[in-house]
Amino acid sequence: MTGPYLAGVDIGGTKITVSLANIEGISVKIYQGIRLEGSNTTIPEQVDLLLGYACDHIGVRADEIMAVGVSSCGPFVKENDELIIAAPNLCGGLAIDRGIIPNDWTRIPLESVLSRRWGRMTIENDGVAAIMAERLFGAGRGEDDVVYVTWSTGIGSGAYVDGRLIHGKNGNAPHIGHIYLAEDGPPCGCGNFGDMESLVSGVAIARDFGSVRSAEEVFAAYRGGDGKAEEIINRAVINFARGLASINAVLDTSVFLIGGSVFINNIDILLPGIEAEFYRSFPLLSEDVDIRPCALGAFLGDMAAFSLVMPDEWIKKWQDNRPWEHAPPAVILEK
Ligand SMILES: [Zn+2]
Repeated sequence: MTGPYLAGVDIGGTKITVSLANIEGISVKIYQGIRLEGSNTTIPEQVDLLLGYACDHIGVRADEIMAVGVSSCGPFVKENDELIIAAPNLCGGLAIDRGIIPNDWTRIPLESVLSRRWGRMTIENDGVAAIMAERLFGAGRGEDDVVYVTWSTGIGSGAYVDGRLIHGKNGNAPHIGHIYLAEDGPPCGCGNFGDMESLVSGVAIARDFGSVRSAEEVFAAYRGGDGKAEEIINRAVINFARGLASINAVLDTSVFLIGGSVFINNIDILLPGIEAEFYRSFPLLSEDVDIRPCALGAFLGDMAAFSLVMPDEWIKKWQDNRPWEHAPPAVILEK
């Protein structure tokens, strides 16, 4: 395949994925567990290495990469005009429970480290990047008022209002996971008590059940008829739907696109309950809102990163040909 190429970088709480694409489609996809030890340039340096590895893998030079899109967990802060990651799930110095993350970082200077070698770069919150991708290529096509919410280990989101992507001053709008839902609730990693993420995230579901490692085990118990699992999941569904209703009261949206592993793996259990509770809230505002699953599935992270920097002529071609569906299998690198 020939260039030019785009690079897509997806920085999550547990792994980093780097993909390269040309106009025909995705050429290579690589992922590796995220490194959280050492200095606060560890993650930018890991991304740099993975970009170099991906280029070598398909025989492309760094100067053939015309732009890099970075979809990252947030939030961000802006310092000296540079977007800096200040995410409590990566920065031990910001985390509430300091023991879990093995570093004392408070800032991750991604842009200044990577731009030395990789040129033009666009960094967005992963929820914002995801809604761009779903609106271009997935279940949000043609929608001017659409909100993406991921229900996963945490809660993330992004939104178009009146056809415009909303950012806010530091690119953090809308952080729906951190709206308050309960007066006296459990702690969230952000420092809030009783916000949406503290009540409904995959971590919260596992915590409420106790003695399990993941929310998936609680859903397995639910499917096996466990009453405690059913109670916890039903309560999470109500809180999740109320979070959506609160956002809708502010944004007056047309469509909610729901993604994330907790939701996608358990749509049959979750969607009917979400709809029942959501449409009960202020019917005049909620009755004509559509709630849909995301459509890009396992490709959402890569497509989100590419969407940040993709030229219009590529977009048209990718909408017609859906090349991500024929991407080569991911290469997994040992950490
Ligand atoms: Zn929070």
